[in-house]
Amino acid sequence: MLKWLNSLIDSNERELKRLQTLVDDINSLEPDFEKLSDAELRAKTDEFKARLKDGESLDEILPEAYAAVREAAKRTIRQRHFDVQLIGGIVLHQGQIAEMKTGEGKTLVATLPLYLNALSGQGCHLVTVNDYLAKRDCHWMGPIYHALGMSVAAITAMQTQDNPFPSYIYDPDFDSGDAKWKYLRPVAYPPNRPQEARRQAYEADITYGTNNEFGFDYLRDNMVWDLSQCVQRPLSYAIVDEVDNILIDEARTPLIISGAAEEATKKYYTFAQLVSRLSKDTDYTIDERTRTANLTEIGMNKIEKMLKREGLLKAPELYDPSNYFLTQYLESALKAHALFRRDKDYVVKDGQVIIVDEFTGRLMFGRRYSEGLHQAIEAKERVKIQRESVTMATITFQNYFRMYQKLAGMTGTAATEAEEFHKIYKLEVVVIPTNKPLIRTEYPDQIYKDEKTKFTAVAREIKQLNDQKRPVLIGTTSIEKSEYLSDLLKRNGIPHQVLNAKHHEKEAVIIAQAGRLEAVTVATNMAGRGVDIILGGNPEGRSEAEWQEEHNKVVELGGLHIVGTEHHEARRIDNQLRGRSGRQGDPGSSRFYASLEDEIVRRFGGNRVKGIMQWAGMDENTPIEHSIATKAMTNSQVQTEGYHFNIRKHLVEYDDVVNTHREVIYAERKKILSGADLKANIISMVQDEIQSLVAKRLSNAGYEREEDKQSNLSGLLEDVSTIFPSPPQFRSDGLSELSDKQITEKLTDYAIELYSQREQELGPDNMRIAERLVMLRVIDRLWMEHLTAMEHLRQGIGLRAVGQEQPLVVYKREGHAYFEALLASIQHDVAHTIYRVGIAKEAPQKKKEAVPVGKKVGRNDPCPCGSGKKYKHCCGK
Ligand code: ADP
Ligand code: MG
Repeated sequence: MLKWLNSLIDSNERELKRLQTLVDDINSLEPDFEKLSDAELRAKTDEFKARLKDGESLDEILPEAYAAVREAAKRTIRQRHFDVQLIGGIVLHQGQIAEMKTGEGKTLVATLPLYLNALSGQGCHLVTVNDYLAKRDCHWMGPIYHALGMSVAAITAMQTQDNPFPSYIYDPDFDSGDAKWKYLRPVAYPPNRPQEARRQAYEADITYGTNNEFGFDYLRDNMVWDLSQCVQRPLSYAIVDEVDNILIDEARTPLIISGAAEEATKKYYTFAQLVSRLSKDTDYTIDERTRTANLTEIGMNKIEKMLKREGLLKAPELYDPSNYFLTQYLESALKAHALFRRDKDYVVKDGQVIIVDEFTGRLMFGRRYSEGLHQAIEAKERVKIQRESVTMATITFQNYFRMYQKLAGMTGTAATEAEEFHKIYKLEVVVIPTNKPLIRTEYPDQIYKDEKTKFTAVAREIKQLNDQKRPVLIGTTSIEKSEYLSDLLKRNGIPHQVLNAKHHEKEAVIIAQAGRLEAVTVATNMAGRGVDIILGGNPEGRSEAEWQEEHNKVVELGGLHIVGTEHHEARRIDNQLRGRSGRQGDPGSSRFYASLEDEIVRRFGGNRVKGIMQWAGMDENTPIEHSIATKAMTNSQVQTEGYHFNIRKHLVEYDDVVNTHREVIYAERKKILSGADLKANIISMVQDEIQSLVAKRLSNAGYEREEDKQSNLSGLLEDVSTIFPSPPQFRSDGLSELSDKQITEKLTDYAIELYSQREQELGPDNMRIAERLVMLRVIDRLWMEHLTAMEHLRQGIGLRAVGQEQPLVVYKREGHAYFEALLASIQHDVAHTIYRVGIAKEAPQKKKEAVPVGKKVGRNDPCPCGSGKKYKHCCGK
């Protein structure tokens, strides 16, 4: 391990040395670029583009391009890229991760590779963690790009119904009236084509936006009915800011576009009621490590009795297969009751249950827990249950970002996760030295016996520092704990600000002032990422002298002090918090507190730490401050990191199965939309369908009696009539003399003839439209069902994992079978619909009525495929 680490450090050193020569090249160009007029500097872009066309490579142009960007930055926003920033920029161009500490100016770094790569004429994306930063960075860096003649845009998530795809272009001739976003011009769009705004934003050379918006736009582009509605260009180059947060933390929940489905909400309420009567340890047990809850024998009996009383049990045994649907409700209700806590895992806001990101404390609007868990929590909180949804399109961030031709990332904290970046994304981490040496003091952990004593000690330290007027930033792991600490501070008479996911909008402003004298700021994890803390506060709106005086005072006091009230699950998140202090060579310090009651200690390192504490002979109020204990803490974090990595790896392995399906289906859709000739394709589907009907009815049937043959033949004709109206010239007795092969031929010939007839009736153009619409409609509907079915399969496999086989192996095998079935269904449904379409009735925008998978279709019900026949005569045969 150590050897591996050492070689990593060595290779990092070598890499940096190599890059230094490039930096020297860029620096030597500086005098020449300084001499250029603004117009000449602007003209460099066209020159570079022309040289690229003539065969020069981006790598060859890099030194000059970077010199141009640096010059533009000097002239516009008055910042000159530091040498280490140039190094970072090269690393990003090479498709790697640049680890650069907070406050090192990553926003400015990204301008270098974005400009260079945009020269190729393919759009470049800069991915941010939230909408605010997408706008801020676009607006802030806009002048640099503009001076070089490059266009830049920002996209943000829907705020209001009437502008579903907000998009902005940086335009110095525009004045929005809002000083903060003065030059961000909202992109106008025609009345009923809002996505047009998005398309224009993607046409820009450089587009800033969140991971969610980029991902959703990709999914939506694959749901359109007309290519002109697509908004993205091919995915070429992306730089992901706060890359660990986006590619690791956020990557645990996939993006899902879903539609509402019918469902039984009452059951959720019933089950929420039932499980609330169960008690921990007697009726159910909790496994902290895996975050699961299980019923005990006693609990099971209790629930069975309750369900019987409610008249819900179909079979007396709860785990009888016929009670399958009930057990799903039960499991999610129990989970919601036993494991998910309000204000920690989720908040209730305006009657909605909103997930709180475990690591960042941010509210994840619009995201829902899957597997009915969200509904179960809604039932537990007695708010309105949002309707269960059908997955219409979904993708993991892992698979979305892997589609870019080139991917790069930057963050203050990547090295601890280097293995995951390498394995999942093939991204290497290069640690870039800071511009000025880091002089932050990191004090050892203080470990207390219980939480209460710990927080008392935390408050004591804050009080001491506050008396000196030194600014303190305190990180907690949940909203609940932030509020607890806030109460404590109030009781101690310490004025402070609380930042948590509830005050998302204001957090940027507050955090910008967290470095002022006497500032005490409590934040859930590192809420406020992306905004950097300047000692003495934000200089804007104050006189230079006034700010300087305050700045100097804070520096004298020792700079910003960080208090971690509990270790996070990953070391990386601790480092994010620490990294708020000591930026750009500032003085600063940090300390973490811990107690035996902390989750991270209980989960993994509990006994070890306890042992150490006993050994140290500690009592209630004296903490231990010992390297062994700190090490035990780190160990337990490493274990937790590994555990989460495994979960994400699993998610990807499972998504990879669906991903191969998605690739096939999306490629097929693209072909259809780009006007591929579908006629031949559809006719061959009809032929195959006829062939299989003949095979099913006639082949291998040794007829004892003539009536049997007759009845089979008329059965066949009845089958065929589900494809097209049975031709009058075909009567079962007329066919009896023919061989199977001849019958097939006769039927196919007729099918082709009828097809031409239809084509003449509708006109060839309309027929082409009809073909396209039928294909799309069938594919979309069945694809949605497939996604939902795959999701159920995945969940079901967890329940079946008791057997000998690896769940993933089973999933792959059965998933493959599902996919084969999907392709067969597409053929079946297309063949059964194509002769029935009337062009006027086929409105493209009409929502397809999704058939929820798992819903039972009665034998005599109309067939869900839409053929109009009874299920038993159609797909249910
Ligand atoms: P990071 O994203 O790395 O935490 P930011 O991009 O938010 O850092 O920048 C932090 C601060 O440093 C900003 O106030 C920015 O203006 C300043 N800064 C960055 N680069 C330079 C530079 N080359 N010269 C002067 N100031 C810079
Ligand atoms: Mg940043």
